[in-house]
Amino acid sequence: MNSAHHRGIGMTSMRTRNRLIERLRDEGIKSQGVLEVMRNTPRHIFVEEALASRAYEDTALPIGLGQTISQPYIVARMTELLLEDGPLDNVLEVGTGSGYQTAILAQMVGRVYSVERIEPLLEQARGRLREMGLKNVRLKLSDGGMGLPEYAPYDGIMVTAAPAGIPLALVDQLQEGGRMVLPVGADRDQILVKVTKTEDGYEKEMLERVIFVPLLGGVQR
Ligand code: SAH
Repeated sequence: MNSAHHRGIGMTSMRTRNRLIERLRDEGIKSQGVLEVMRNTPRHIFVEEALASRAYEDTALPIGLGQTISQPYIVARMTELLLEDGPLDNVLEVGTGSGYQTAILAQMVGRVYSVERIEPLLEQARGRLREMGLKNVRLKLSDGGMGLPEYAPYDGIMVTAAPAGIPLALVDQLQEGGRMVLPVGADRDQILVKVTKTEDGYEKEMLERVIFVPLLGGVQR
């Protein structure tokens, strides 16, 4: 990506970014912290150059290999839900994709481990996160349905692809009092769920209907 590209976008982006933040507020996002981090994070570096002019629209966009960068509203909502009960130190994200949600989380929590099953997407995300100078992120090529046991327990887990049901391996890797935000369900019939780990199991809150790509098994090189 050349610097002219950066500069060209930079000149118009503050106004379009502010407009996006206003829209997120209108849609019900209340966390000032989330809104400020999203205002200051360059979403255009997480999409292909041809789509950069649409990066501050409140819409999901294709990132190649059949995957999408999540809609800003859903990134804001899931981040707000994950953080609403207090600060987090050790967070796992499943489904790195473009790396945009990872970048938002990294600015708001202690450390982020993020796993992705498609290698070219992971490597692209790695470059972008490095470009942003984020140092508290570790990325790994792996099937996140199994979680990432080597750095568990986590006080927060965010899943950005939809499993058919709540993956118990992920619940196991939450510490007591930890929470997980994830879409659950089949294609076109998914609901956002917040899970809180308790002493003897977990509680779940069903929140709103969402649309995500499915959580798939195995890795793809
Ligand atoms: N947070 C991302 C969302 C990308 S879409 C963003 O805003 O860009 C969801 C991603 O989850 C896709 O990149 C997909 O490849 C990945 N994914 C699906 N199943 C997975 C699994 N089992 N383990 C890890 N990543 C998975």
